[in-house]
Amino acid sequence: MKKFDIIVVGSGTAGSIAAYFGAKRGYKVCLLDGKPRYKIGDKICGDAIGSRIFDELGIPHPKRGEYLNIIDGAKLFPPDTAYSITIKDPTQAGYIVDRLRFGQGLMNTAIDAGAEQFDQTHAISLLFNKEQVTGVKIKSKNFNQDDFMADIVIDASGFHTQLRKQVNFPYLEKEIAPTDYIVCYREILRLKNPVVVDQRFISIYMDNKRAPGGYIWYFPRNEYEVNLGFGVMENHKSNLRDYYQKIVYEPFIGDEPCTRITGGSGLVSVCKPLLTGVANGILFVGDAAKQVNPITGGGLMSSMQAGSYTIQAYEKARESETFDALALWQYNLLFQKTIGAEFAALNLLRSAIQSFPNEVMNFAIKNRVVTGEEISRITTKGEISLSLPELLGKLLRGLSKPKLLLDLNYLRNRMGEIKVLYRNYPRSPSYLGLWVEQLEKINIQVRNRYGPSS
Ligand SMILES: Cc1cc2nc3c(=O)[nH]c(=O)nc-3n(C[C@H](O)[C@H](O)[C@H](O)COP(=O)(O)OP(=O)(O)OC[C@H]3O[C@@H](n4cnc5c(N)ncnc54)[C@H](O)[C@@H]3O)c2cc1C
Repeated sequence: MKKFDIIVVGSGTAGSIAAYFGAKRGYKVCLLDGKPRYKIGDKICGDAIGSRIFDELGIPHPKRGEYLNIIDGAKLFPPDTAYSITIKDPTQAGYIVDRLRFGQGLMNTAIDAGAEQFDQTHAISLLFNKEQVTGVKIKSKNFNQDDFMADIVIDASGFHTQLRKQVNFPYLEKEIAPTDYIVCYREILRLKNPVVVDQRFISIYMDNKRAPGGYIWYFPRNEYEVNLGFGVMENHKSNLRDYYQKIVYEPFIGDEPCTRITGGSGLVSVCKPLLTGVANGILFVGDAAKQVNPITGGGLMSSMQAGSYTIQAYEKARESETFDALALWQYNLLFQKTIGAEFAALNLLRSAIQSFPNEVMNFAIKNRVVTGEEISRITTKGEISLSLPELLGKLLRGLSKPKLLLDLNYLRNRMGEIKVLYRNYPRSPSYLGLWVEQLEKINIQVRNRYGPSS
């Protein structure tokens, strides 16, 4: 048996950041991962990350080699691809990273700060004292089993977490609904001729016929290389690789001479985060807590931010020397009032966008119904800031269809309501039930209008 202050399961972005801040504060941190150390960080991903998170957390920006390209912004294309909106905002600028090197960099930051890493070590089950999580049973690289005990366990084990299923706590979701995630496939390609699109911009193609519930992405890594992929709702998937070939590779690459460096599939949640990321003795973070932007599918920044919140909450709980859900509740308050509010609002918007026919998206982008600045604000803050007079102004200038204007106004109001609700996230688990009831009322209204949204 080994004893720690904090056990972090998973050395991805969420786990590495939690372990880094925990170790930096002087706690005895165990950082587990089932993979061999040299493979940690390697993940099927779009590899795009905003630069502001590094300043916000006060950690070094990725070094050259850890990042491959600097990105100034994004171009958003509607289905007919004849037009695009450029989204250029310093807060959205960032990097295309080499996923393995970037992940290794974060992991090493945690280890250098003092976290004790156990690679090729799986957390196979949680250990409990009554309802309180007290540690994990691990299986090491030698197939030996051991009990690792700690004040808290941080589950940063990603989308497929098995640990969350073992915890009984009111309103803690064990499963993820098929409407709440997308399946993705992407390849990294090296072209013989330089990549034609502007290397400083990532391109996003929305198309509810070809990529329902998701989008197609074209993210340049350098002059010759591109990360090209797509995401769709689970129920639309056929053979992912064949589908990719048909709807992505052929239209975007066609007969261009090109080498496939690597390819693979992955799942991303596109829904509101867990209703509670806290239970007795355990915190859930990153993909294990569904902390992914439901519109962009971006989870790197949010997982890192939330990783830092776990340690703030642990620190507060230590004051009372108890680590039950109430003592750790600070984590929910830090996360839900900020990122949680934004993602819950964007989840409503996602339901609406998914229901829009392609013609509406073509019209909206061609006529600049929303501008690049407005889109940037929507995706970073989760709010439609256009006032009703501004929306009416667009209608009068012929820039919007009445139905679209009504939708925007409706969404602006519902998104505003849900953000207020999240900002009033209950201060203790006792009031969570009442809060969930209020949340459901908003979700039901939006679901009735646009279809699935949870
Ligand atoms: C195709 C695709 C494209 C994406 N593109 C982007 C993008 O461009 N930008 C962006 O911001 N986000 C993107 N995302 C989302 C982003 O990759 C994730 O949100 C982010 O990596 C989450 O990190 P994490 O630390 O929570 O989980 P992970 O990175 O999945 O890390 C989990 C770790 O836990 C380990 N583990 C799992 N179970 C156990 C266990 N029982 N015991 C020990 N170790 C365990 C795993 O080996 C792994 O190392 C994309 C995701 C996909 C699938």
